[in-house]
Amino acid sequence: MDNKKDTLIELKHVKKVFKDGVTIIEDLNLEIKKGEFVTLLGPSGCGKTTILRMIGGFEKISAGELLLNGKDISNLPPNERPINTVFQKYALFPHLNVYDNIAFGLKIKGADKKTQDEKVKKVLEMVDLEGFEKRSISTLSGGQQQRIAIARAIVNEPEVLLLDESLSALDAKMRKEMQIELKEMHKKLGITFIFVTHDQEEALTMSDKVVVMSDGEIQQIGTPEDIYNEPKNLFVADFIGESNIFKGKMVGKKKVQFDGAVFECVDDYPVDTVIDAVVRPEDVEITEAGKGRIQGEVIACDFKGIFYVTAVKTDRAEIEIHNLKSFKIGEKVGLDLAPDSIHIIPYDTTINHYEGTLESYIVGKGFLVKFEDFELSDVPAARIFANCTEKEEGTSLLDAAGKEISWEGRKVVASFKPEDAKLSDDAEAGFVAGDINSFIFMDNYYHYRVRSESEEEYIVNDEYLWNSGDHVSISVPLEKFQFELS
Ligand code: ADP
Ligand code: MG
Repeated sequence: MDNKKDTLIELKHVKKVFKDGVTIIEDLNLEIKKGEFVTLLGPSGCGKTTILRMIGGFEKISAGELLLNGKDISNLPPNERPINTVFQKYALFPHLNVYDNIAFGLKIKGADKKTQDEKVKKVLEMVDLEGFEKRSISTLSGGQQQRIAIARAIVNEPEVLLLDESLSALDAKMRKEMQIELKEMHKKLGITFIFVTHDQEEALTMSDKVVVMSDGEIQQIGTPEDIYNEPKNLFVADFIGESNIFKGKMVGKKKVQFDGAVFECVDDYPVDTVIDAVVRPEDVEITEAGKGRIQGEVIACDFKGIFYVTAVKTDRAEIEIHNLKSFKIGEKVGLDLAPDSIHIIPYDTTINHYEGTLESYIVGKGFLVKFEDFELSDVPAARIFANCTEKEEGTSLLDAAGKEISWEGRKVVASFKPEDAKLSDDAEAGFVAGDINSFIFMDNYYHYRVRSESEEEYIVNDEYLWNSGDHVSISVPLEKFQFELS
């Protein structure tokens, strides 16, 4: 099925830098097949509209390739691409009637009156507004205007229809109806729809394929079922649907431990792998107190129309559960999880996490943090303790409530992303030195594993070529380090 012949649109290593010099998209790779209903899903500002505008031709790509049927279209103006857009604001001409709004593009292309009449009639049927030709735009409801906007976009028989948050302006009920209609329209037309939304439910209901994005990067591509049931990382797990996320570790073959209990699961990772376990609220089983592997107390239970949302507090966590029974606040219950209701996301411990100790603190400068291989100095206190304030003198730090924080000897984990690190052949230039143990060429950079004298491993993505055995040092700007108390 994964035949290149089915591929309609391809974005290869696409980069987008706006005039102000800000890079919105670094390196985007996406393939869209003929006839697919693809949804770009992600929080506001993650770059969805920008991608759509690049495909539509309203925005130039800064680097990379944009292919349609294998041909580069990045220099074609919008009207020469077989692509039409339904914008977030419908952009209908208010002074023209329905007919003239829809026929506008046909007229520009020089279609004769008879062709115009036929095509307008056909698309009005398609959007269920037969006989609306003479109506003025201002007399139409929001839902009807939306349909006219779609009719206008499909009358030119494009190969691709781009829809940018096209349903966001509608009220909830209308929106649900239009979701179903759009899907039906997609089936009838047989063309490719690229739909943009920040609404996960909308994306899951409508699409063949969902592209989950954050910060200009694709987090996961998959069917709605895939991304719901098998989120690849915590961003996706958190963004799609409700989830309980537990930190834990593998303790045996398909055995995982979290929230103080051991569970069978269906994923297998080496013993001691640190993991996040994702459990959907509808998959938690509530049992009698004393039964089930986790014990807790009901702290909230609200009816949501079809199911109850129950919150249970356990020793270590607060768990959200969706089910059909109501519970009393204060009621003691047991909880259990079936193996296939636990989805494991291994925490990649090999990627640049290092535990250190808070060694000393200087007011106005920050912490000295000591690690096995290196030390970091002048780490601002606020990077480690959120909302803390410094005392005027001495080495005291106060928390948000004004209480003194006892930081001496506390352990912190410092981490950095491989792409934020650089290699140098000057052993003194970086914060740590080691030998290049292995490297992999990744198309536009190299992925290095550097091993220090104490056998710690550091992962660095660098654009320059080094050789195995080279002695190098690693630099990471202090602001690129993340700190977390452990
Ligand atoms: P989304 O549609 O996912 O909400 P956008 O693609 O509209 O996101 O925007 C992504 C980012 O690009 C935002 O940070 C936005 O401010 C920025 N951006 C969008 N258009 C421009 C522009 N013309 N110039 C500079 N920055 C822009
Ligand atoms: Mg947008």
